[in-house]
Amino acid sequence: MTARSLGGREVAQRLRTAAADAVASCVTAGTVPRLAIVLATRDESAASYVRTLSAAAARLGIECDVSNLPPDATAPDIGAVLAALSADPAVHAVVLQAPVPAGLALTELAAVIAPAKDVDGASPASLGRLVAGLPAFAPATAQAVLELLDYHGVELQGRRAVVVGRSVVVGKPVAQLLLAKNATVTICHSRTPDLSSITRSADVLVVAVGRAGLITAEHVRPGAVVVDVGTNVAAGGSFVGDVNAAPVAEVAGALSPVPGGVGPVTTAQLLFNVATAAATPFQFSG
Ligand code: NAP
Repeated sequence: MTARSLGGREVAQRLRTAAADAVASCVTAGTVPRLAIVLATRDESAASYVRTLSAAAARLGIECDVSNLPPDATAPDIGAVLAALSADPAVHAVVLQAPVPAGLALTELAAVIAPAKDVDGASPASLGRLVAGLPAFAPATAQAVLELLDYHGVELQGRRAVVVGRSVVVGKPVAQLLLAKNATVTICHSRTPDLSSITRSADVLVVAVGRAGLITAEHVRPGAVVVDVGTNVAAGGSFVGDVNAAPVAEVAGALSPVPGGVGPVTTAQLLFNVATAAATPFQFSG
């Protein structure tokens, strides 16, 4: 068997088209959607991601401002900038880019971002609303996994889903979103014994760990759907996922590629969220 490829580029295009429609409605109504990104790091990959995001925003007609803070910025420094942006009626969306300065917690810093502007679902309020089933933006990567599955027609209701990884940006919110689709969800992590005995029970396996090749053919039930969120830099500088793609593709029914799977959907999802925040801000009670 060779697994069907769950590519993300067409999914991303669908999201960009929907985002462009929402931007056009805003502009017709006299509003230009505006995204504010706060960067408090010298990390070059974060800076590069922010440049890519800003350029993609500009192509959709979304204005994008980047506030650069020093990598030793304090929690009050960052909180003051985020709070001012969140209170500014001309700003529709606020993102605090990871990584944040050593010793600070992104989720805690993001607490001052209003849920209606928290387009990357980073604040404790957004995460709580997600768990409570209230309107909220989920973290873009987690939502991207669901968009990828939906686009490729993967049924979730009543299916057994296993998520490997329990971070607040991917694993936990993905599990909540799968639960909201009526999947039966198990979350695994670094202390899970006999990982393969659990992952082999999955109809849908989502892997978000950050270890190249962690998931091999022995972890996958024949015919299962596998989504690889991992992004790891391999020797030579190329990107590889957490799934050992070639052997897993011989067992799985479907597998998302790295690169070209979840990654492009994540960026498009974030910009779709910005357009939504500008077009329909009233959907949140705050
Ligand atoms: P993270 O915060 O480091 O969390 C990793 C999770 O994996 C933790 O819950 C950890 O368990 C678990 N883990 C570590 N080793 C394990 C093992 N041997 N077996 C089972 N679980 C294990 O990482 P993250 O931010 O969630 O990111 C995960 C991956 O997704 C990374 O490769 C990252 O680059 C990628 N990512 C991709 C996108 C995208 O757009 N494509 C976006 C975000 C992240 P403990 O909790 O027990 O430590």
